[in-house]
Amino acid sequence: MDFSRVQELAAQHGTPALFLSESRLRSAYRALALSLPGVELYYAVKSNCDPAIIAILNSENSFFDICSNGEIDIVRNAGICAGRCIHTHPIKRESDIRYALDFGVDTFVVDNEDELLKFIPYKNRCGLLVRMSIQNPGCLVNLSHKFGEAPEHTFNLIKKGHDLGLRIKGISFHPGSQNENALKYIEALEYCRDICRQAALSGIAIEVIDIGGGFPISYLASVMPIANFCQPINEYLTRYFSNYRIIAEPGRVISGPSVSLATTVIGRSMRNGAWWYYLDEGMYGSFSGKMYDHADYPMVVSRSGERHNSVLAGPTCDSIDVLYENIRLPLLQIGDVLLFESMGAYTSASASDFNGFPRAKIVVVE
Ligand SMILES: *Cc1c(COP(=O)(O)O)cnc(C)c1O
Repeated sequence: MDFSRVQELAAQHGTPALFLSESRLRSAYRALALSLPGVELYYAVKSNCDPAIIAILNSENSFFDICSNGEIDIVRNAGICAGRCIHTHPIKRESDIRYALDFGVDTFVVDNEDELLKFIPYKNRCGLLVRMSIQNPGCLVNLSHKFGEAPEHTFNLIKKGHDLGLRIKGISFHPGSQNENALKYIEALEYCRDICRQAALSGIAIEVIDIGGGFPISYLASVMPIANFCQPINEYLTRYFSNYRIIAEPGRVISGPSVSLATTVIGRSMRNGAWWYYLDEGMYGSFSGKMYDHADYPMVVSRSGERHNSVLAGPTCDSIDVLYENIRLPLLQIGDVLLFESMGAYTSASASDFNGFPRAKIVVVE
């Protein structure tokens, strides 16, 4: 977006505002669908559950990955049928399972024996994916720290489920979010091949392989185009998994690039040799992703000129609400609008109204 347009929109809608580009969202979805031919895409609602995003993806015929009763309500309110959803939370209360079954979801994820037992009363109403862990210490967000059975024990869990009379449909994994190493998918798929072989020998037919999410996007550093990133994954899937149904749970790669944040400088102060700029959005708002998601968003400033040692801070009274320190910025004025890009994933999703500052509104543009 060019900056005069940003200023116009900021003036029209007020700030802080998250501008959702419908065309960018559609093209991110389509680019991934083209890059992973034959793979069903279940959008991870967790990354951004805004109703506008859900509605646009629904119109692209996306499927949806949901994890909680609240996320079920979101997709239900969007008119999405349960047949297009899977429930991927490995730990659920009995009441959560019933809530999802009552909605009509018929695919769930488990990663331990106690969770298998919870499904015995419902064994005729659903099938299960067994989640395998895949360690990825180099990744921005490790999603196998908390969930997933070790690869070498995953077959045993599948066998236990099968022996309990449950329908084990497949294997799922998540290679870590903002995973820049495509070989992590291959590593996980190699384990899957082995597990499928063992399962076949025990008369268990694995039908589904769920390769999770994790596809990376450009922040301050840019990543390779998604088609190139997916190429080795495709080749491996074509070679070894052509007889399986392959699904994925992308979040960030779809919601991330389509949203930009406009925030305004509401005050400034020279403190200890640095210009402190106080913005109307901060760590307790959309920048919560800096804390929880470890993301660093590209910034666009309209002014130019000599640069000074600067600090950007959010609006709340808490000292943790400081976004950037020791950065070099041109002199800003109160009322200046700053733009931050790639702010669609894990940003507004984890924002709060702390200290009485309401969450940034989402405005659909283009
Ligand atoms: C968070 C999450 C996703 C989405 O991951 P991205 O890295 O945003 O693509 C997918 N599946 C599960 C189970 C998750 O927890």
